[in-house]
Amino acid sequence: MTEGFATTQVQGGYAVGLPSFSAVPPIHQTAAYEFSSLQEAADLFALRKAGIIYSRNASPTQQILEERVAALEGGASAVAVASGQAAVAVTLLALAGRGGHIVAADQLYGGTVDLLQDTFDDFGIPVTFVDQDDPDAWRAAVTPQTRLLFAETVANPVAQVLDIRLIADIAHEAGVPLVVDSTVGTPALIRPGDHGADFVVHSATKFLSGHGSSLGGVVVDQGTFDFGAEPERWPQFTAPYQRFGELVLWERFGQGQAFAALVKSKYVHDLGPSLSPFNAWQILQGIETLDLRVARQSSSALAIAQHLAQHPAVSRVNHPGLADSPWHALAQRYLPKGVPSVFSFDVDGTEDEAPARIARLVDELNVFRLVANLGDARSLVAHPASMTHSHLTSAQRAAAGISLNTVRLSIGIEDPADLIADLDRALAIA
Ligand code: PLP
Repeated sequence: MTEGFATTQVQGGYAVGLPSFSAVPPIHQTAAYEFSSLQEAADLFALRKAGIIYSRNASPTQQILEERVAALEGGASAVAVASGQAAVAVTLLALAGRGGHIVAADQLYGGTVDLLQDTFDDFGIPVTFVDQDDPDAWRAAVTPQTRLLFAETVANPVAQVLDIRLIADIAHEAGVPLVVDSTVGTPALIRPGDHGADFVVHSATKFLSGHGSSLGGVVVDQGTFDFGAEPERWPQFTAPYQRFGELVLWERFGQGQAFAALVKSKYVHDLGPSLSPFNAWQILQGIETLDLRVARQSSSALAIAQHLAQHPAVSRVNHPGLADSPWHALAQRYLPKGVPSVFSFDVDGTEDEAPARIARLVDELNVFRLVANLGDARSLVAHPASMTHSHLTSAQRAAAGISLNTVRLSIGIEDPADLIADLDRALAIA
């Protein structure tokens, strides 16, 4: 050893690029990546060469996650970011950020509504909300400035099932892509790209992870939308990319890859919602058991929904697996492998009495945990009106199908009998 102690302390024992052959994907917990030469650094910075510069934009662990989720969705490429919220934000900014208009469903996760009607309003990005079950409302809301339609495949918390093919056709007639949030659906139950959706967003915090320990988000480009067909409408892909000189993303990366290149090189690079390598690794671990968990959760949820539908203290169960659900036919068409395990029910009684009754119910539950999350291995309960959807007006909540009596459940992988007993006991007391 010719170098000094302090040098060895920092650099000893590790050769950059040393192959490890580890069976499980390694966590590349480094902020930056070393270049073999200044020429290579310049080529990477100019997007002339593909590779990793810095963990704000990518890490090898993250790339494994991106490839895995893209493959699970049958897509062309993916971008993973720090949270589901970030995945929605960078996707919509990349498509509509230049004076574009968005048409979105009334039936969305409350945090997405906050983003669209508050922060996007600050950014000057107008959003029109429509009932997702009303195709005429979607068509009527489209303007020449519209750049995308947005909805959840299975909405949180009332579990309305989107007619993906119908809304995709409306989007394509208008010359814009359909972007869906399929967090609740999961690729184990539904692949929206098979039905015409062009971009699929996930909060990886939920079912993809399944352990409830890490935040993350992913957007998949299905590779179906041709931004080159109307180049003047999509200058972010088809005009020279100002910060890279004459480079045109559509020519350099092409269909299925240009969107990811824009999201990474601009929105993730500039705004910084990067996924930590450790979280990427944790999400990869979770994905390994996705279909096993989702199958158990889905069948338990249906059994619990059927039980609640017979319960005298319950006025309504919002589960599209039940024959009397308005979304049952859509569930049969789009979710033949099973309906997601996130659903809600309304406790019987007036809305005036609801706060006290729901508080009692939730406090009495022991197996269900009161948590602002879903898709966990644990069963979770939430009261949307005072939690996830508390920023909505009462009219917005009504449009989303949520009342003060609505209780959301996310069914985990515990014994269904224990979950039913927990609900029965708490409902009896409340
Ligand atoms: N989309 C849906 C349907 C969600 O339920 C959530 C969170 O609850 C998000 C997006 C946001 O994801 P995250 O919490 O990972 O930012």
